[in-house]
Amino acid sequence: MAGRLDGKVAVITGASSGIGEATAKTFVDEGAYVVLGDIQNDLGLAVAESLGSKASYFFCDVTKEEQVENLLSEGVKITGKLDIMMNNAGIVGARAPIDQILLAEFQRTLEVLVAGSFLGIKYAAAKMKPQESGSIINMASTAGLSGGFGPHAYAAAKHAIVGLTRNTAAELCRYGIRVNCIAPSGVVTPLAAQAHLGDFMAMDEIKGTLAENSPLKGRAGTAEDVANAALFLASDESGYTNGHCLTVDAGFTSGSKSNDPQHMVNVPFMREAGKTGLED
Ligand code: NAP
Repeated sequence: MAGRLDGKVAVITGASSGIGEATAKTFVDEGAYVVLGDIQNDLGLAVAESLGSKASYFFCDVTKEEQVENLLSEGVKITGKLDIMMNNAGIVGARAPIDQILLAEFQRTLEVLVAGSFLGIKYAAAKMKPQESGSIINMASTAGLSGGFGPHAYAAAKHAIVGLTRNTAAELCRYGIRVNCIAPSGVVTPLAAQAHLGDFMAMDEIKGTLAENSPLKGRAGTAEDVANAALFLASDESGYTNGHCLTVDAGFTSGSKSNDPQHMVNVPFMREAGKTGLED
């Protein structure tokens, strides 16, 4: 099925790489015009060029208010409207035991992830309110739904993004604007390779590692998996979905674990009530 975003205009931050890049491609394939923003200029320009006449790239550091405002203005300038805003740009940020994290690194992590998303929502809402329509998609993480999925600052930031999503959804619904977020677990991108293996280029290795640890046997999550979730939230198919956090995590947050049932395989099951197993 193609054309699910026909005639729509989307802005995506962090679109030079990983999930943002995959989403830009998916959105263009489905008929949208996409404005890409990122701090990786050469990559961003190359991605936009590869997408043809339905994409353009602008430098945008999401921690800079005027740059976020400009990015959204460019989108509206080119197309006259804004249908979809995806606040996706991100970093892993401060990584250390809680008693060793530097305040400046903690604050910088929240600045990129939380303030960056806040600015994207703020200026998207300003463009979308007069239209009385729009879909805002924020990038959370399983680290925003449960402890134990990421470093402290990252987890705090992603929990904040889930909260910001729900609260802005509650405010903006009266203007016909939906706000949702996506919570992926580890998916194959340079960020995941850097976070898990210390090398953002190690894409084959991270794919292997994620596949090995996936609840879905041998299946690593991909940027395209997340792009498809974003496509649903961006399209009219999700027209009654608001304030939702859509997990793309192979069931990690609902209890699925890699190889979990295996440890039960050789344990004798109770075969009669009141007994712990029949003797052979
Ligand atoms: P990625 O491949 O590194 O892409 C993120 C892009 O955002 C990069 O181009 C990055 O540039 C850019 N960026 C960083 N800081 C920025 C800023 N201040 N302003 C604008 N752009 C900035 O990472 P990804 O895995 O696709 O991550 C995308 C989003 O998904 C992030 O919010 C991340 O937290 C979230 N997520 C990812 C995973 C995963 O396993 N991959 C799981 C859950 C959630 P630099 O490379 O120069 O920093």
